[in-house]
Amino acid sequence: MNDSSESGAEVATIPGEIQDGALVVDRAAHSISRRRIPENVLKVLYRLHRSGYRAYLCGGSVRDLLITRTPKDFDIATDAHPTDVRRLFRNSRIIGRRFRLVHVIFQDMIVEVSTFRREPENRPSEDTEDLLVTDDNTFGSPLQDARRRDFTINGLFYNIADFSVIDYIGGLEDIEQRRVRVIGTPEIRFREDPVRMMRAIEFASRLNFDIEPATWSAIVSHRQEILKASAPRVSEEILELLRRGWSRDAFRLMVETRLLESLLPEVYRALTHESSAYFWKMLEVLDRTVQSSRKVPDAVLLAVLLLPYAIDELESEDARRQTRMKIGEVILFIRDLIQPLCQRMALSAGTRHQIEQALETLWRLLEPPVDRKSQWRFVSREHFSDALALLELFALSSGRHVEQLRQWQAFSQRVKRGEESPGALLTGTAPRRRRRRK
Ligand code: ATP
Ligand code: MG
Repeated sequence: MNDSSESGAEVATIPGEIQDGALVVDRAAHSISRRRIPENVLKVLYRLHRSGYRAYLCGGSVRDLLITRTPKDFDIATDAHPTDVRRLFRNSRIIGRRFRLVHVIFQDMIVEVSTFRREPENRPSEDTEDLLVTDDNTFGSPLQDARRRDFTINGLFYNIADFSVIDYIGGLEDIEQRRVRVIGTPEIRFREDPVRMMRAIEFASRLNFDIEPATWSAIVSHRQEILKASAPRVSEEILELLRRGWSRDAFRLMVETRLLESLLPEVYRALTHESSAYFWKMLEVLDRTVQSSRKVPDAVLLAVLLLPYAIDELESEDARRQTRMKIGEVILFIRDLIQPLCQRMALSAGTRHQIEQALETLWRLLEPPVDRKSQWRFVSREHFSDALALLELFALSSGRHVEQLRQWQAFSQRVKRGEESPGALLTGTAPRRRRRRK
């Protein structure tokens, strides 16, 4: 697909007028209704507008309103400076050192108001090796503000003055064609901020959009740049994919573009084995679980990601030793295995410990049945519920160890209901429930 010739031809299909280099689509020709914008957000927009400033809804909220999804948050862009905005709203405060923006605080939400800004002037020239953006604290025009954003679908404005949508970057066309396209030259924009490669994949899987070809090839050719991004930021992106329920498609795209190979080569290798087919099923089950608003702890999410790698390595180690490792050895082996990975992902010591415990407890649950006293001790362990959640995902996706899963689920239910106790286990009889005396 040749994007430049295409977008030129296709923009004409969107009804609107060209004003100051933007396609302006009036209220009758787009689908954003004010009824879907919370009252507090409208209040902020209207007050800015009545005070003589431009007041635009921007970013993800405009995108989501146009495709009739519920926005996660509503951000506002304006030509008022942070101090002007602060003065207009008693319930506001200026935040951020590098780029100052204003939070207008309501009981149930925070509305972020930022002043139009542009890419910094002292930006290195395009042929400089290192394009990483380190300073973006420069005010600019609406056009510049649109251009500094990541993808065309995220660069639209909704103008409260006349309820029009303002499109400087061809975002409306891309929303209509359901595709994720970098604003500007993908190679440059990805080198400036490599996390944008992950964001492209995130939006594509979350919205079920395609990644347009130039953006896609830039991810493939610049995937190694992801190692220059801050590790905690990248890990947070990975966690968000898992937490919000679009991980299966996102990881598929990360494997197809091989971005994951640059990021976590061991995990990539494990996932591309045929024997890891259950992993994709696991992500599917996980996505459904979190979408049905069941919260899964971060340690379990990360343990899911590391599981095929751990299984592969344990199996090859067993083959090398020509014997199955004992549980104590397995535990030490897992610790050594995931330690460097967790370090590279800049996970906290606490999170690493939780992942280790979830994986170790999982392996203990897979061991041959133990006596009821040890079972009882197990269920009361801190990490039992994480391991059981992991076992549930694994068993339901691979069809392996389903019997163990059922037994452990039944046993932990009985413990919860007070039908199992260590005292009873010593005598071998289940305790009778005592009636409370009146
Ligand atoms: P979500 O619904 O997940 O909040 P969003 O599009 O609002 O999606 P945010 O991360 O909240 O995404 O960022 C808000 C806006 O800021 C984006 O829509 C985009 O215009 C801009 N933006 C965010 N991250 C970047 C980035 N790395 N580079 C350029 N622009 C960015
Ligand atoms: Mg947002």
